[in-house]
Amino acid sequence: MKNCLFCKISNGDIPCVKLYEDDDILVFLDISQTTKGHTLVIPKEHFENIFDLTPETITNIYKHIPKVARAIMKAFNAKGMNIINNNGETAGQTVFHYHVHLIPRYNEDDGLRVIYTNHMDKYSKEDLEFIANEIKNNI
Ligand code: AMP
Ligand code: ZN
Repeated sequence: MKNCLFCKISNGDIPCVKLYEDDDILVFLDISQTTKGHTLVIPKEHFENIFDLTPETITNIYKHIPKVARAIMKAFNAKGMNIINNNGETAGQTVFHYHVHLIPRYNEDDGLRVIYTNHMDKYSKEDLEFIANEIKNNI
């Protein structure tokens, strides 16, 4: 797609530091290096985010992720890894071509902080049933 940064990277118009590619996917270093080894996996074909991905494309992407994740862990003796995919501006997506972040973790102050707020005191069992039904009705 015209004017898409990751389409330009995947067709070679903009350089990247490449780790792996095949006909369907490209794996390259994230320029921000949130932690050492921060890597992106993208489909070569343009999809904006998870909401318009096909099952075939998500399969192509995720079938490569374990081996790339293991390689990053081994290369720098990482202690863990966050695998993150932001969908939509509200969720922090800034490049609107689907991508998965592989962010190796070394310690709590290594550059990434993921905080899940616990609101379980605000939801009754009935509230959870209602939420589940609203979602199920849309699957
Ligand atoms: P997100 O905020 O989830 O959309 O992630 C977009 C990511 O793309 C950010 O982590 C950026 O650092 C990364 N990024 C932006 N431009 C480039 C580039 N030219 N090469 C590699 N990574 C990039
Ligand atoms: Zn694109």
